[in-house]
Order: sequence, then C-alpha cells, then structure tokens
Amino acid sequence: MTPDTGKQVDIHVDIKENIERIKERVEKAARKSGRSPDEIKLIAVTKNVEPARILEAIDAGIWDLGENRVQEMQEKVEAISTAGRKVNWHMIGHLQKNKVKYLVDSVSIIHSLDSIELAQEIDKRAKKVGRIINVLIQVNVAEEESKFGIFKDEVNKFIEDIVKYDNIRVKGLMTIAPKAANPEDVRFVFRELNKIFIDIRRKNIDNIDMEYLSMGMSNDFEVAIEEGANMVRIGTAIFGVRR
Ligand SMILES: *Cc1c(COP(=O)(O)O)cnc(C)c1O
Repeated sequence: MTPDTGKQVDIHVDIKENIERIKERVEKAARKSGRSPDEIKLIAVTKNVEPARILEAIDAGIWDLGENRVQEMQEKVEAISTAGRKVNWHMIGHLQKNKVKYLVDSVSIIHSLDSIELAQEIDKRAKKVGRIINVLIQVNVAEEESKFGIFKDEVNKFIEDIVKYDNIRVKGLMTIAPKAANPEDVRFVFRELNKIFIDIRRKNIDNIDMEYLSMGMSNDFEVAIEEGANMVRIGTAIFGVRR
C-alpha cells in the first residue's frame, strides 16, 4: 500500500481534447442562434492553473486568458511572455482601485467595471501610460447579494456618468449568472442582459461601443451563447476542477 500523504491524486486532464470539445459545443450553440462560431471568443480562465498547463492551452489554439486576481495575473503575464507566447489578458474578477496600476500595461479588457470610482482610477492610470483601456460593465442581473456589479436599472445612468473618461472605452457588458443545477434556470439572466446590450447599442453613444457581451461559464455557456453571448469565460471545462 502506498502511504497516504494527504495530497489529492492528480487526475490527468487532457487540455487539448477539452478545448476541442468545447469549440465544438460553442459552434453548435452559435449555429443554433443563427450566428457564425467565429463571432464567439473563447476565454480560457486560468485562475489556479500553473503556467505549464496554460502553455498547453495556448498551444491548443487559445489566444485569450482570463484571471480574477491581479497578482496572479501579473505572475502569469510574466511567465507566459517569458515562454515566448503572445496572448490577450482579460481581468474578469472584482478589481480594487489600488491594484489598477499593476495591470494597466498588460490588460486587454477589464470585464469587471462596477463603480464610477473604479472607472475614474482606470482612466487616470491609463492616461499615465498613454493607453485607452477597454472595459466591460459588470451587471448583477439577478441582484444577488454575494455578487459584484451594478443593477440593471442603473446601467443607463452609469453609462452617462462614465462617457467623460477619455482613456477608457466601454466595449460591452458582462455578467455572472447565479449558480444553477440546470442552465435553463438562468436563461432569463442572459436574455435580459442581451436586451440591455441591444438597447444601448441602438443609442449610438460616443465612447460606447457595444461590441462584447461576456456571459457564460463552464456550466452554462451554451445557453449564454444561444441568448447572444459573444465572449464565454471557461475554466473548469478546460483545466478540470480547481484545487
Ligand atoms: C472562475 C470564473 C469563470 C470560470 O468558471 P468555470 O465555472 O470554472 O468555467 C468565469 N468567470 C469568472 C468571473 C470567474 O471568476
């Protein structure tokens, strides 16, 4: 008998195969909603995943990586670029104002803009480095206490308040649906956000390009795509259960 070290057994996860399978499912869901699969961006969520396994995903055709913590993202930006790969980095987690300065150089899109104060800080830091930073507004569609994001009926006012920040560009909306055993139970969340997305797009506001609708994770991405998502953020279904 082998001694019990208390460590979990490392179950082999075939990252390349998982990515291929997800791409097929994305394609099916896209076609079901009458869209081309090319319109859907797959973001591999790499929190708690070590660089060697992230490289496997990149070599299997992933170009976009999502992290929810600034320090972890910084470490991985360094590791992945040292390994000679070029990718787009997405900040998908709640962002504290005092951490913004650490990611202004490397981030491609911040998905989690959830306050005016944060917008102001991103704008200030972006100016300093001479960048325009792409952001998505995080909306707490189901109004869950445990989640960040502004409420649906605050979105229009929020947009009016942030158009003045020249160094941020609003590129769309993001949401995290409530946990549900059956993804059909959260379809309404995706549908509602898509409605808001389309309404804002129709208004043609300066500085606001409603281009990306970031919604859908491992458990619910197909339903999200059917309801209009064009960015899905997938961790577990690619890298296995997080430890
Ligand atoms: C962790 C995380 C994901 C990925 O979740 P999975 O269920 O592992 O696919 C997506 N979005 C955000 C904001 C996350 O924090």
